[in-house]
Amino acid sequence: MPDPFYITTPIYYVNDVPHIGHAYTTIAADVMARYRRLTGNDTFFLTGLDEHGQKVQQAAIKAGIDPQIYCDRVTPQFRNLWEKLHISHDGFIRTTDARHKAVVQRALQNLSNKDLIYRAEYTGWYCTFDERFWTEKDVENGLCPDCKRPVEQLSESNYFFRMSQFQDRLKEHIQQHKDFLRPETRRNEVIGFLQKPLEDLSISRPKSRLSWGIELPFDSDYVTYVWFDALVNYISALEYLPSVPAFERYWPASIHLVGKDILTTHAVYWSTILMGLELPLPRTIFAHGWWTVDGEKMSKSRGNVVDPYVMVEEFGADAFRYFLLREVPFGQDGDFAREPFIGRINSDLANGLGNLLSRTLTLIHRFSNGRVPEPQDSTTTGLETELKRTAESLIREKLPHHLHSGRLEFNRALESIWGLVQLGNQYIDKTAPWVLAKQPDQKPRLDTVLYHSAETLRCLSISIYAFMPTTAEEIKQQLGLTLNFTKPILEGEFNWGGLLPDTQVTKGQPIFPRIEATTKSQGKNQPSPDHLGSSPSYQSQATASSQMKPEPTQRPGNTPGSDDLITIQEFEKIQLKAGKVLSAERVPKSEKLVKLQVDLGREQRQIVAGIGKKYKPENLVGQTVVVVTNLKPAKLMGIESQGMVLAAGDEEVKSLATFLEEVDPGTKVK
Ligand SMILES: [Zn+2]
Repeated sequence: MPDPFYITTPIYYVNDVPHIGHAYTTIAADVMARYRRLTGNDTFFLTGLDEHGQKVQQAAIKAGIDPQIYCDRVTPQFRNLWEKLHISHDGFIRTTDARHKAVVQRALQNLSNKDLIYRAEYTGWYCTFDERFWTEKDVENGLCPDCKRPVEQLSESNYFFRMSQFQDRLKEHIQQHKDFLRPETRRNEVIGFLQKPLEDLSISRPKSRLSWGIELPFDSDYVTYVWFDALVNYISALEYLPSVPAFERYWPASIHLVGKDILTTHAVYWSTILMGLELPLPRTIFAHGWWTVDGEKMSKSRGNVVDPYVMVEEFGADAFRYFLLREVPFGQDGDFAREPFIGRINSDLANGLGNLLSRTLTLIHRFSNGRVPEPQDSTTTGLETELKRTAESLIREKLPHHLHSGRLEFNRALESIWGLVQLGNQYIDKTAPWVLAKQPDQKPRLDTVLYHSAETLRCLSISIYAFMPTTAEEIKQQLGLTLNFTKPILEGEFNWGGLLPDTQVTKGQPIFPRIEATTKSQGKNQPSPDHLGSSPSYQSQATASSQMKPEPTQRPGNTPGSDDLITIQEFEKIQLKAGKVLSAERVPKSEKLVKLQVDLGREQRQIVAGIGKKYKPENLVGQTVVVVTNLKPAKLMGIESQGMVLAAGDEEVKSLATFLEEVDPGTKVK
């Protein structure tokens, strides 16, 4: 039985708006969690929110509400994003949970009993704006290094943790455990930091200054300051109690994933706290880099913050997950820009993986009645041997190597997977099944080629599952596989030849349609992507070509140029009909999407529409609406939509378009 695997993200500050950085860490953790579950590890994946502190207190006061209510209100911003990104966390901790508070207080009492906590007068330079102390060496010309406002000297009595006492032990631990701090460059930074004498750590704030926190168990005038509250989440989430087996099972953590800015906090503060508590240290703390956007630091004032919600709506969760982990080695800084993102979708996903799936299934439909043929061993060549060798080494050697906790080479893992994608496409080019099909005596060889193409896809679905779970499921469906990705993959499935001959395949929609346009569409003028029932990928491919062109420069007072006008013939290309809603139900896990069955006179269609925020499904039944009937079908959250309903509104749906008089379903609208 493989070891239990426990992976964490940092807990995110509830006062932040989720951005690409949060998404990045959490996606990386999700890939590891999914991968380890697939390979049989008993896995626990924890993420959560840091809810205490000055900024939350202030925001709540400003909003005139209790800080707890404030936290409860903003928590869904993160939770919903994780749902959209298909994050498979097992635990979601909030530092305002009663069980977390209890564990923090118990840990503090434990250290206090051992005389590892003491009270002392602290004098430092205080910035009123940031509400924090700075040391002598931080302050520049009497100004706060952060906000550049004048600081004042202030004395305050506080509690301290005897961190300095553990300096030598920590240095030794880092020396002896190569994988404890990763990557290597960051490890060296911490070693450098520990060359200087380590100070004791201030762990409290007087309630007069900060009340929104966890009270010290031995002094009710104080709350504990951020580190003790936040870092302890990694053990409190396991309910660190002797009688609870989760702690025994999962601690020490296999990996804490952190941004590079908080590596020292974790490597030094957290490790010494654990030493004080006499608990083992995590096996690996892995620090990843930061994202810039179009070459610039991301900031609210620059207005270049990448909103993961927008990326998912526009390009789909899997494409976003793929790009973030493929583009930049984990541990290094990366730059996010639209062009390379769309470039990757088109080259790697549409032309690479998507094309391999689509052509393989087309060939099986055309030349084998939609069933996977039996390979004929007598006709195999070196080409098949190469496919087999590449696929088996990918699954058995390369993925375990690159996804080892001390490496986390996500980009290399994906490179290896796409090596097999490329080989699969080359295989079809070289063997040219459409030529073999013309020669009846080549039927055994044709069967072999079709089988090996499909088997390549089976191996790919297993390999990409951790990175792109929805795509893996889609490939599985279309290929008719019986794999269950949520359970450990059986040993035998890792071998070449797991695909059963005679399996019925079903060709579906392209998994990654090409994206034609590349201009920015994050502006306010853009309709929200799942508005009126076109899918993100569909929008990008088909309807977006006009929307995504740079907007014609419109000078005030000018009539729009002739470019903006269409002829009656162009308008008539769009077929509109009256449709009567027969049934309506919410799409699970979506706020906006509603699945409709619509009567169009001679036919009934299923339409997925983004009108769920405005309308309750039960109020839609019986309504007659306007349906675009010649739109290419698209998939939204895995559900096929065979058309679109019209509604008024831009970002938000204001009203469905309907009729003044009763009209029969199927009536043409013009
Ligand atoms: Zn300041």
